[in-house]
Amino acid sequence: MKITILGARGSVPTAGRDMQEFGGSTSCLYVETDEYAIFVDAGTGLIHAPDVGTRKIVILLTHPHIDHLIGLPFFPFNREKGRIVDIYAKRRGSLGAAEQIERLISPPLWPCLLSDYPADFHVHDLKLPITFGNIEVTGIESNHPGGSIIYRISQNGRSFVYATDYEHYGSDMDALAEFARDTDLLMYDGQYTNEESSRMVGFGHSTVDAGLEVRKRANAGSILFVHHDPRHTDEMLAEMENAVKSDGVAFAREGQVIML
Ligand SMILES: [Zn+2]
Ligand SMILES: [Zn+2]
Repeated sequence: MKITILGARGSVPTAGRDMQEFGGSTSCLYVETDEYAIFVDAGTGLIHAPDVGTRKIVILLTHPHIDHLIGLPFFPFNREKGRIVDIYAKRRGSLGAAEQIERLISPPLWPCLLSDYPADFHVHDLKLPITFGNIEVTGIESNHPGGSIIYRISQNGRSFVYATDYEHYGSDMDALAEFARDTDLLMYDGQYTNEESSRMVGFGHSTVDAGLEVRKRANAGSILFVHHDPRHTDEMLAEMENAVKSDGVAFAREGQVIML
């Protein structure tokens, strides 16, 4: 499995000379297989989607917060007439996947609807587990305002868990550890320092220390921290990373490619 980090920033896109190394694009992963081009989340990282050839395009959303959706209007394949794009999101209360997306991508917040683009969008209410060829996708509900899905994506006995937008406070960390049991790679919401985290209880994000604890309990292989705080510069992120850097512990960088 080939995974590309297209966006590792959380909450809002950032720019600037001090945001170059880790990048400013918001949440988006690209999982490439022979048959499928699977994008997990549609943050501004989605704008940098590579050429997918004839692969079938799937977009899996964790939740509809704008930092995970705002890249969708500029997805390069929107302009390809007849290109099928299957989007999946979990129903939230009375809002199905299509209604959630339309909240953002419709006037007056945006000049048109997704259905106005030349591509052929199919928006589905997500039911887990789901498979795409030999890719298996399972999920659990995260501890995050409004809800979010933590995905586990597997192929040929290898897997990764994408635990972004997860808060450890008030959450059963054992449930996440159980879900991530023996995974090869845990991507984890490391948005806050411990000091920030204590001030941001209820905001739905976590810390490096909590991530390392989940990794240990889960017996996960590597851990890669994602959803970097928009106020954290390259210097701060490098400092946070250096404080914990060891085999299999790192902070995600935009453009990074991981082979599993
Ligand atoms: Zn987010
Ligand atoms: Zn969120």
